[in-house]
Amino acid sequence: MSDCLFCKIEKGDIPAEKVYDGDSVFAISDINPQAPVHLLIIPKKHYSTILELDEKDQELVGSVFSAANCLAKDYGLDQSGFRVVVNCGAEAGQSVFHVHYHLLGGRAMHWPPG
Ligand code: 5GP
Ligand code: ZN
Repeated sequence: MSDCLFCKIEKGDIPAEKVYDGDSVFAISDINPQAPVHLLIIPKKHYSTILELDEKDQELVGSVFSAANCLAKDYGLDQSGFRVVVNCGAEAGQSVFHVHYHLLGGRAMHWPPG
């Protein structure tokens, strides 16, 4: 997708420090962090929303959680706890329509989220 922000970051057309770079997913720090640690785990392949993910993407989704667990340990969140969130669609607050998983940690989280 030529006009997609995360596709451009993945290709290196827009600079961003990759804190994780795997075969099928990468991760960056969120530009507007909502917690002391706020990372975005992003599939390299473009999917607009998680509605496009199904059984064919089992390996990809597994890779997302491998990255999340690896990063949680790297950032020292595995003992204290952390949250992995996906927003799907406008009412959920999705603003970038390239699937991404938020990894948030470093502070107490509230439930239900706002
Ligand atoms: P969403 O609202 O779609 O669930 O999450 C999109 C996230 O992308 C937001 O948390 C927002 O701060 C982040 N974001 C938007 N533009 C950029 C950018 O250019 N670079 C980075 N690193 N994050 C961005
Ligand atoms: Zn994209």
